[in-house]
Amino acid sequence: MAFSKVFTIPGRGFPRFKKKGRNDSLYLEGNIKISGNRIKLPKIGWVRTYEKHLPPILVKSNSNVTISCFAARWFISYKVDVKPEHVEHSYGGVGVDLGLKTLATLSNGKTFPAVKAYRKAKSKIAHLQRSVSRKVKGSNNRKKAILKLQKAHYRVASIRNDATHKLTIYLAKNHSEVVIEDLNVSGMLKNHRLAQAIADGGFYEFRRQLEYKCQWYDSKLTVVDRFFPSSKTCSHCGHVRKGLKLSDRTFVCSSCGFFLDRDWNAAINLALAGSSPVSACGASH
Ligand SMILES: [Zn+2]
Repeated sequence: MAFSKVFTIPGRGFPRFKKKGRNDSLYLEGNIKISGNRIKLPKIGWVRTYEKHLPPILVKSNSNVTISCFAARWFISYKVDVKPEHVEHSYGGVGVDLGLKTLATLSNGKTFPAVKAYRKAKSKIAHLQRSVSRKVKGSNNRKKAILKLQKAHYRVASIRNDATHKLTIYLAKNHSEVVIEDLNVSGMLKNHRLAQAIADGGFYEFRRQLEYKCQWYDSKLTVVDRFFPSSKTCSHCGHVRKGLKLSDRTFVCSSCGFFLDRDWNAAINLALAGSSPVSACGASH
């Protein structure tokens, strides 16, 4: 398991990259030591980090580290051995529908709202992007503007990562099965809401985290077929509705009259497509 964190190097300029670019990184081989918030790196020696306590390392093997730099921050990553705690799942299967305005809607009716700071930070990026393009190439002002832009990008990525981690931990820890949709990119183009979510890279990270966290917590991850009509199917009677528009925020069944929030209905269908008994479905008639 990789673990990345920020560290500072007081009073020294280091390390040097062959070419300064966007994704500067270097790999150091050798043994490392940890003491509180400090880490001893091969060839470099002790460096202080912003962490309160660094996680202990694997002692058995060579503990190689990767050092990288982005937006004038330094990051270090190394492998740590984590034994996940054993948890009893409180609930059975859960279906998860991902969105933009609502980050996730679960089949039990619980929702994870989109992070407001994320939207704000995103509009700031657009502003900074324009600021960079107005500056003369190679100028100091342009370099400064680029750094500001990189910092804003970093902030957006951190906010999103934090929200995704909280969501995936919650799902894997509390449910014996997590059911999600397999999203295909070509189909996405027809679906604007999801296209944006995909463009944000949110879905792939969400799925990647779920894959390993479900293993940690002994939960089953089920990915349903990408052609499964989760939004168009009535979760009450199974009738598949034709002509459901993206603007229709409520699913209304033309066969049985059942109605429910669109995303909630989709999440219930996903939960039903799983193999576990589904806990607590909301229903309205
Ligand atoms: Zn129905």
